[in-house]
Amino acid sequence: MADGIPEEVLMNAGLIENLSDLAKDTALLHGVLMRTKETPKSSEIVTYAPFTLFPSAVPRAVFQQALAVQTHYNLLVDRISQDPVFLEEALASTIAVDDFTRRLFSIYRQVLEEGKSQLIVLGLNRSDYMLDQREDGMSSLKQIEINTIAASFGGLASRTPDIHRHILKVAGRLEESQRVLDNNPAAGLARGLAKAWELHGSEKAVVMFMIDEVERNIFDHRYVENELWKRNIRTIRRRFEDVCKTGSLDQGKRLFVDGQEVAVVYFRNGYMPQHYNSEQIWEARLMMERSMAVKCPDIATHLAGTKKVQQELARPGVLERFFPDEPKVVDQIRATFAGLYTLDMGPEGDKTVAMALDKPDRFVLKPQREGGGNNIYGSEICQVLEAAKGSLERTAYILMDKIQPRPVLNYLLRRDAVLRLSSCISELGMFGVYVRQGSDMVTNECVGHLLRTKSSEDSDGGVAAGVAVLDNPLII
Ligand code: ADP
Ligand code: MG
Repeated sequence: MADGIPEEVLMNAGLIENLSDLAKDTALLHGVLMRTKETPKSSEIVTYAPFTLFPSAVPRAVFQQALAVQTHYNLLVDRISQDPVFLEEALASTIAVDDFTRRLFSIYRQVLEEGKSQLIVLGLNRSDYMLDQREDGMSSLKQIEINTIAASFGGLASRTPDIHRHILKVAGRLEESQRVLDNNPAAGLARGLAKAWELHGSEKAVVMFMIDEVERNIFDHRYVENELWKRNIRTIRRRFEDVCKTGSLDQGKRLFVDGQEVAVVYFRNGYMPQHYNSEQIWEARLMMERSMAVKCPDIATHLAGTKKVQQELARPGVLERFFPDEPKVVDQIRATFAGLYTLDMGPEGDKTVAMALDKPDRFVLKPQREGGGNNIYGSEICQVLEAAKGSLERTAYILMDKIQPRPVLNYLLRRDAVLRLSSCISELGMFGVYVRQGSDMVTNECVGHLLRTKSSEDSDGGVAAGVAVLDNPLII
């Protein structure tokens, strides 16, 4: 491999074994940690977060392209969130069949009717890409999705570059070690949270992390929390159930939880149907949306990140709606779109069905879900579409071209797994942060990146799902 880690290193079994032990110790030293499967609620015993032994080659031009388009994606998401006509039209067919999206949408409608009580908007998102292997041998950056809620691993990704640098040095690859980029999304995400907190204007108020009862990835949150504490901003961690029990709004719609005023609600959960397992929890989400706390994300921004919206954006003319006088911005964003196809009822959707049934291996079928492991591939696409093609059920999905990155060799280090050379593919994420106050964009930046790598045999699933592992780009 001319462009990454040389074969003489990858194939040197003795060296690899030593490096793998060293890599795990180094991960622990640097705090790249996770709670264990056995004790997911406690930090008494922890393990390293899974990661690759070596960083993975990413061409500089493609990395720069993803970096440069991020502020445009921030604007796009923010503008979609302010366009009720677009959101209503884009999601109409989805909410007719998808209960979860419908419930989110009804909260959105309600707060829209009542009028906004908070004009400060905080967006912390992550746009994910894969490098599609083109026929001319070059790779082209294609967006997988944009996560507008609970985009994770900004904390741990701030600590992984030092592991890979160290491993490369010990392997005698000093030059490569210098091509591992610095990265500190945790500080950038905290900067956004701190700015929103400051603009909210009440010094005693806290930033509230909305969390699950069970959180193996707690250290990822802690990095962001610590950055806030360094700025003397207090943070608390609460579950939806806690907000149900002790949350309230005062007459000015200020949000109080456990008697403390909340300046910013930072959702690190709330993106899956399972997170809303009672009516009270839906009411708690509504109460927070109505409040004058800054929501990260607010309900409109949450909806702007749905897969159905992503597909609608790929229709001709739609990006122009959001950037009417900026054709270059439109081109930059559109260049990152893979083929996306509607399954709405009608001739266009019928064409999509026929295309997918004809060549299922060229596509991914996606429901309106987040968190990994929900997408449908290969022959299963045919099963699902054969059953749903004549009914509204099909509109719960979108169809997307399958991105085919060039596999590279690496070792995936995860607890108790056998050390073996695997054929791997990577997904590059860029963290976007923006704060808007009324019509004034106060900040709009790209604050760092995340590279995740998985075996090319696994079609789906992220780090939390136990499929992908943390990685770093080795710039070539
Ligand atoms: P989720 O919201 O569950 O993270 P994603 O759209 O990110 O949904 O899909 C999950 C995973 O499935 C991705 O991390 C990627 O590995 C794989 N995947 C998704 N879309 C594609 C695609 N178009 N081509 C290839 N792989 C894909
Ligand atoms: Mg994803």
